[in-house]
Amino acid sequence: MQIALKEESSTITTKPQSKLWMPKQVLFTPAALEEPWGQQMYERVRALGLPVQEQKSNRITGLRGEDERETYRKAKSTLAIVTAPPGALKLQPIPPSADWQFHLAEGCPAHCQYCYLAGSLQGPPVVRAFANLPAILQNLVKYKKPGGLTTFEASCYTDPLGIEHLTGSLAETIRFFGEQEGMHLRWVSKFDQVDGLLDLRHHGNTQPRISLNTEFISRRIEGGTAPMEARLAAIRKLALPKADGGGGYNVGLVIAPIMPVPDWEAQYTQLLDRLEQTLDFPCEITFELISHRFTPGSKAILQEWYPNTQIDFDEANRSLKYNKFGGKKYVYSPATMHQLRSFFYAELKRRFPAAPVLYWT
Ligand code: SF4
Repeated sequence: MQIALKEESSTITTKPQSKLWMPKQVLFTPAALEEPWGQQMYERVRALGLPVQEQKSNRITGLRGEDERETYRKAKSTLAIVTAPPGALKLQPIPPSADWQFHLAEGCPAHCQYCYLAGSLQGPPVVRAFANLPAILQNLVKYKKPGGLTTFEASCYTDPLGIEHLTGSLAETIRFFGEQEGMHLRWVSKFDQVDGLLDLRHHGNTQPRISLNTEFISRRIEGGTAPMEARLAAIRKLALPKADGGGGYNVGLVIAPIMPVPDWEAQYTQLLDRLEQTLDFPCEITFELISHRFTPGSKAILQEWYPNTQIDFDEANRSLKYNKFGGKKYVYSPATMHQLRSFFYAELKRRFPAAPVLYWT
């Protein structure tokens, strides 16, 4: 079995309790301020006492530092409120997660050392939230399949829950989908501030998904995210039906990125034990299982962002695979993949026999 995280000598530090991300500066473009939804965000961030700057043009500039590390620090502590460009209204497919992807924002305040966004977004990793939300939502209706169910994924380029206290866009999107027929919303998060979503009339048209991993992995490589126990508490709140009709979401559990760290079987067993204890009432859930992988491009960016990363990015410990466009990705060896996959399928079937595993990758 290969190792997935480098050995380290330091002791584990207990992660602080989950806290909301507060950017050091919030930039608004003139176009964003002309949007009623942009005004709503403006009021929110002002009420939180955050420093607001109105930009002279619709381009966000001034985030480059002296080197990549400084650029990273500046960008990751900035929230920019902008309007999504017209190109954002031309949706792209996103199998196997959903039929279409759309974006409430681009960029994320967390610091995961394997971040899926590395290499996907251009420029400094600033969080840009979109002020023209009503247009973004109305545009989705054009993509609805006649007579069938069309699914939409909102978290390809951001963690929408991680910035919800600053934008309100996720709740508005859940409300919008609650009023549609034949359209389902999916999103995924590593945060836990779900209280504002529990009273929404989602009408079963939204599937929130929470990303889970072992404490050992999360504490080492998922900086700025909610602790695992806080995420489990959020899953319980989302799944529990409330007497007044709220809650009761069909929650998705995304176990990712799965890594064969030393003692992985015991660690993932502990995670699944906690999940079983958390969901001790009848509820509908699904699983998605994603093993760790990287591409040459994402490795280069992640090693620049996290020069002391504990993730083992040594290609010699991996198998090379090609995607359908010929791009390279490094995954675990077939033997390791088989071992991990067999473990999860057997354990999930035993513990959650009614819960579908949507895919393993
Ligand atoms: S939560 Fe997701 S998008 Fe945000 S840093 Fe982690 S992997 Fe990247």
